[in-house]
Amino acid sequence: MNEVVPNRKEYDPEMHSAEHILNQTMVRMFDCGRAFSAHIEKKKSKCDYHFERDLTAEEIVAIEHRVNEIITSGLPIQEKILGREEARNIVSLARLPEDSGDTVRIIVIGDYDLCPCSGVHARTTSEIGGFKIISTDYANNILRIRFKIHQVLS
Ligand SMILES: [Zn+2]
Repeated sequence: MNEVVPNRKEYDPEMHSAEHILNQTMVRMFDCGRAFSAHIEKKKSKCDYHFERDLTAEEIVAIEHRVNEIITSGLPIQEKILGREEARNIVSLARLPEDSGDTVRIIVIGDYDLCPCSGVHARTTSEIGGFKIISTDYANNILRIRFKIHQVLS
């Protein structure tokens, strides 16, 4: 399996795994869809969502709380290789090119998240460390969330 590792020097599997959890949390809390664009780096990362407004301070705390709950519950992060048709039944393949092959690699985070992805991930959510939202920005129907991860929560 070829693994696509963007920006190898700065790329961080833990950060990227946090991105998966943040995306699922945004989907569950706001039904907004996963980030349509993301920059994931070791020190800090950002995800952009199609959205109708900025987040409130309470919502930011609620998102952090939920993401940290998933992290501390130590869910396994596993890959599943499925046939395209089988994969289509459980995840959206809208963002995969039609010619990307007969099989799809799905990343499964416990019973919390499923997402087609070719990246490198932590082995369990407990490896990620504490999740913190640095700031949010809102303009032109795009919500940007900047976040970082810090020392592993005990
Ligand atoms: Zn991934």
